Amino acid sequence: MQIAKDKIDALRAMLENSRRVVILSHTNPDGDAIGSSLAWAEVLKRHGHEVTCIIPNKYPYYLDFMPDIESVVIYKGDNDGIAMKAIKDADIIFCLDFHTMTRLDGLGDIIDSNQHAKRVLIDHHLDPSEDFDLMLSYPKASSTCYLVALIVENMYDTASISATMAENLFVGMMTDTGNFAFSSVTPDLFRMVSVLAATGIDIPNIHNNVYNSFTESRARLFGYVINRKMRIFHNGTVAHMSLTEEEMRRFWFQQGDSEGFVNYPLTIKKMKMSAMFTQHTDFIRVSLRSRGNIDVNLFAQRYFNGGGHKNAAGGKSFMTMEETIKHYEKCVKEFAAEGMLN
Ligand code: 5GP
Ligand code: MN
Repeated sequence: MQIAKDKIDALRAMLENSRRVVILSHTNPDGDAIGSSLAWAEVLKRHGHEVTCIIPNKYPYYLDFMPDIESVVIYKGDNDGIAMKAIKDADIIFCLDFHTMTRLDGLGDIIDSNQHAKRVLIDHHLDPSEDFDLMLSYPKASSTCYLVALIVENMYDTASISATMAENLFVGMMTDTGNFAFSSVTPDLFRMVSVLAATGIDIPNIHNNVYNSFTESRARLFGYVINRKMRIFHNGTVAHMSLTEEEMRRFWFQQGDSEGFVNYPLTIKKMKMSAMFTQHTDFIRVSLRSRGNIDVNLFAQRYFNGGGHKNAAGGKSFMTMEETIKHYEKCVKEFAAEGMLN
């Protein structure tokens, strides 16, 4: 993939006049959100910028090991107003790994209070909203971390990717491609992984930190959800699972514990589409996954006020769990009737 030269030139020009930088990523940040933010922050700091990384709410505990993650300001619970001040003072605001301000929840309003900062999007989701001064939007990119690596190569050089940046970038490249297994992987992604590996990062250790660092209760919760909560319908091709607050309490649920569960039904040969519904205080979080041509981005947009990628999308439901599941089953039927599940 190529980043257009005029985009890099525009980015360089914007950065020349911007000392104070804010890097924002999305609610329920994942490895790609955090990894891309931290790597981009590191290279900008090295070039003399004052950088603050901000996320709307806390990241899952299995990302604790990521280099410099303690520098990320978590807006929810930021009683000292560090995020608010950084946003107010910023000359430039980077939005990484999300495509609409709705993914920032309450933080979106704070951003609007700064009308002088330039806004730059670096992202790989479909259908980005248009309110940016510069858009580095590449929906074909397998992760935002891969995009950031490309941008650093183009703006500076390959050698500018340090070992700590490489570790952070590797996390996002690995997690957003399902451990380098999705159809989004390309030969150039593996070239970039080779660049990262050459910095001396410990890949098996990163892998263990991300995928094998859960609690016992998370393993038991997983067994419970698959055994007791997975419902399969539409002739064995569509699945859904759900978690209520009571169930979460029973298994000592921590944020991030149900991450990845939604993929599991797709290990069944005939399965085409899977959904996971997780109860939050004010809404139900909807996670969708699909195989091949089945477009859950469209499904999420149409029926759950969300979006994402073709094979991985999400949204929200403001109905009860029971109603949400009924709604899902009805929408699947409608989707199928239009030939969208073939
Ligand atoms: P996950 O199921 O891992 O939370 O999300 C899968 C994909 O869907 C991610 O790329 C994410 O950005 C997108 N997504 C998740 N929730 C929402 C949402 O509420 N709104 C939109 N527009 N996209 C979402
Ligand atoms: Mn991503």
